[in-house]
Amino acid sequence: MKHTLFVAAMAALAASTAFAEYPEKPVTIVVPFAAGGPTDKVARDLAEALRKPMGNATIIIENVGGAGGTLGATKVAKAAPDGYTLLLAHAGISTAPALYRNLQYKTLEDFEYLGMVNEVPMTLVSKPTLPANSYAELVKWLEANKGKVNLAHAGLGSASHLCGLMFQSTTKMEMQTVPYKGTGPAMTDLIGGQVDIMCDQTTNTTGQIESGKIKAFAVTSKARLKTPVLAKLPTLDEAGLKGFNVTIWHAMYAPKGTPKAVLEKVNTALKAALKDADFIKREEALGAVIVSDARVNPVEHKKFVESEINKWAPVIKAAGQYAD
Ligand code: ASP
Repeated sequence: MKHTLFVAAMAALAASTAFAEYPEKPVTIVVPFAAGGPTDKVARDLAEALRKPMGNATIIIENVGGAGGTLGATKVAKAAPDGYTLLLAHAGISTAPALYRNLQYKTLEDFEYLGMVNEVPMTLVSKPTLPANSYAELVKWLEANKGKVNLAHAGLGSASHLCGLMFQSTTKMEMQTVPYKGTGPAMTDLIGGQVDIMCDQTTNTTGQIESGKIKAFAVTSKARLKTPVLAKLPTLDEAGLKGFNVTIWHAMYAPKGTPKAVLEKVNTALKAALKDADFIKREEALGAVIVSDARVNPVEHKKFVESEINKWAPVIKAAGQYAD
């Protein structure tokens, strides 16, 4: 008995000293969407803010897009639990269980929860050549072009897919949906006019709206936004889609079994990064809201994700959406 206790104590000590210097090599943050999109943007800005509090670590962003973010999340769920592979995911991690029949991970069981990062509203945007200049004109155009309208999204369960789905069901207008590995490449096609409309996070659309490369018709949040270029846009609720309210959150995860000492270090670094003045400025300029310390909490975040899974499951079931 004494011997077993001694061995266990030595093993615990070895584990804690083994990770005392973490990180000793570059840390990879997997982004489950293509480069150039909103999740990628948040991850790259966050990596910058995390570098110092992570002991001047080199942080690499790896884009693993596809299947609405589930390929990237699978990669992290199956990665070595050593703190060198982390995940920056969005709300899609809570919709995937209801959408994907053969999901290769369990959202609530296969990750260590690190905490939430921010909340980002979405915007309803179109190609620049679409001949509408207000939400009312957009609706008229959509009606006149019934059966021919293409809506771009980042795969089943992605934010753009869910927002687009809600838009179609609230307006009772069916569109052809075009999936991408992320709304980065979808944005390129929207600008080029290959697709007609899209619902995407403000972190990807603000700059393009400002430079006139795309048109914007409404925001998806309950209240209007403060960011100057977005402030003039009506909410979809105001525009007539009563109760429409979609805001996307981003959060960080590690593979299940990552040592506690590492999780604590990353969590502390994350809290510090979210107070970085440059990061805050960049996020606010793009309409994102950084969460308070209370939400950068593994236990709270896990409870929140559980409530999100329960919130979305019946909506997705009712919409008859699923993938194998
Ligand atoms: N905005 C995308 C989505 O619809 C994801 C991305 O490319 O970041 O979920």
